[in-house]
Amino acid sequence: MRVYEFARKQNISSKKIIELLQKTGFDVTSHMSVLEDKALLYLEKAFKKPEKAAKPKVPKKEKTIEIKKILKKPPKKPAPPKPKKKDIVPLEEKLPKKIQIIAEPMRLVEFAKKINMPATEIIVTLLKWGIVAPKNQVISVNIVTRLAGHYDIEIVKPEAKQEKVEKKVIVAEGELKERLPVIVILGHVDHGKTTLLDFIRKTRIAIKEKGGITQHLGAYEATTSQGSVVFLDTPGHEAFSKMRQRGVKVADIAVLVVAADDGVMPQTVEAIKHAKSINIPIIVAINKIDKVDKSRIEVVKRQLSQHDVLPEEWGGDAICVPISAKLGTGVDQLLEMILLQSQMMELRADLSGPAKGYVLESKLEKGRGPVATLIAQHGALKVGDYFVCGITRGRVNSLVDSYGKRLNEVGPVIPVQAAGFYSLPEVGDFFKVVSKNEFNKAAKQGEQKLAADKRLVQEGGINIIIKTDTNSTKEALIDAIEKLSKRVETPFNIIHAAVGDVSESNVEFAFNTGSNIIGLHVKKETNAASLAQRREVSIDLHTIIYKLLEDLEERSAKTKEVEMVLTKIGEAVVLKIFDIKKIGVIAGAYVKDGRFSRDGTVKVWRGSQLVGEGKITSLQRERKTVKEVHSGFECGFMVEKFTEWGVDDRVECYIEVLSTP
Ligand code: GDP
Repeated sequence: MRVYEFARKQNISSKKIIELLQKTGFDVTSHMSVLEDKALLYLEKAFKKPEKAAKPKVPKKEKTIEIKKILKKPPKKPAPPKPKKKDIVPLEEKLPKKIQIIAEPMRLVEFAKKINMPATEIIVTLLKWGIVAPKNQVISVNIVTRLAGHYDIEIVKPEAKQEKVEKKVIVAEGELKERLPVIVILGHVDHGKTTLLDFIRKTRIAIKEKGGITQHLGAYEATTSQGSVVFLDTPGHEAFSKMRQRGVKVADIAVLVVAADDGVMPQTVEAIKHAKSINIPIIVAINKIDKVDKSRIEVVKRQLSQHDVLPEEWGGDAICVPISAKLGTGVDQLLEMILLQSQMMELRADLSGPAKGYVLESKLEKGRGPVATLIAQHGALKVGDYFVCGITRGRVNSLVDSYGKRLNEVGPVIPVQAAGFYSLPEVGDFFKVVSKNEFNKAAKQGEQKLAADKRLVQEGGINIIIKTDTNSTKEALIDAIEKLSKRVETPFNIIHAAVGDVSESNVEFAFNTGSNIIGLHVKKETNAASLAQRREVSIDLHTIIYKLLEDLEERSAKTKEVEMVLTKIGEAVVLKIFDIKKIGVIAGAYVKDGRFSRDGTVKVWRGSQLVGEGKITSLQRERKTVKEVHSGFECGFMVEKFTEWGVDDRVECYIEVLSTP
């Protein structure tokens, strides 16, 4: 029997069991640890009602738990661990006597240093407990206490003075509340991600409302019989990859779906890399077990272990759950594993400060204007809050959850659709609730930025927005376009560049900034295509970079032709003709209207007939070369390749100007 199975039988948390066993000196590390006979005996005694059946119970009937419950109650603080017996903790000998450590949050490396241990040792211990913590991660008081217990180090309470300093640097423990885990489903195409999400949504969400999930927000809070979790409901969500590039964890746990028939495929490997790059634990769902022989499960596990995902039963830390998303087999066990993993992670959020988080999705909605799915990572978001978000800002005027329920306030990681944006934010933008003062300041800065953008437009460049499939493509393309810009007549202004398919918010932004959208190796989202048509925003998608550049070069040349138009600036009448040897034929004329410019071209009319045209090669007044001659004055000029002047010829002067659309 495993720890979590016993815990479930007794209806208490695995964490409590682990703490109890560790205090008593048994060697258990996580909820997945197998209980040795002695430990099991001890536990059965401790919990009085000894039960022989070692098999886990069939999961209980679904409990209907209120959805609006935003946060779980904080767990009771564990009793301070007592020192362990010597024979069980041989490490004690290695440690100098009487190391004391203050119960306060600290970076993992600091903790390691304080107890004279290599940081990797601590990282490994935490991994065994199911906690992923890189060495610079700040570990909570709870974990510090637990680690101290594990290494038999005396723990002392922080003094009042120390507490003060600590508050400035890091949120005090009391303000951190347990929050729900956010789960992302990853895996190769067609391995069953959507089917799994659909199955959970349709059958495993205990909800009071009849309607179920009515709003597709890109994520939903699922209150299952095993507990509550937040699922990102679009596999491979744009926001997930965007945030990953910024090093932000959108999800706490990745569920990696691998079809048992197909096994590990390229996108499976990619998904493993994604999860590892942001250091989130992976739970593997080996799917489609209804259509294959059982032996395939082992094959998949072997393949996984070749990619650094070592199944827990083989000594690794990856929990593998065989499922059939189609039939629902194993889905409850998967949910249970997700919940257990998240409990071990002690996910917490700070509720005291203003809400901050990120945009998961955004769109324009009839009658409501721009709306966005927001997920706060800290703080509570309220109706009436002022916020800044990416390049836009606003004031929250409504909050709606995935069940269509209007809320006045929402806590961390619960996805809500918020309205009140001044313009459409981008997926992956950060938002932050600010004071009214800060909001107004941001408004001013926004206007300045807008003015700067206008200047950009006035410079006559072509505004473009770039979308690419990867960051490296993006960088390469920006580089190439900047080089091209130096060569061509009309340069390009890269207004915005990002990774991902062309979205509605890209189109809206292009419309607002008078830009064209250029994509490389990306698609347009369906809604983006129709919005682009309505807004008359051009989207050009390419798969080959040099074709894209050729296209841009052509566009630059065309812009030049289109933008330069001939404008008439003056008219004169020829009075006398001077044919001067060695110089040429000069028309002596009187400017009747406007002006004549040395940079101009002329059209010569005799009656209603156009008899010649050409560029002015010299313009003189009173035998001096001048730039311009205005109406009411006489002047002399010569025209390139035109000498057949006649008295009374009407001459129009034109210059090229940039067209104003
Ligand atoms: P996704 O691309 O990962 O979202 O994959 P889908 O959920 O769209 O599933 C791809 C195909 O596999 C669909 O035809 C599903 O019906 C099928 N499928 C998904 N899960 C199972 C399963 O557990 N058993 C069987 N037999 N088919 C499944």
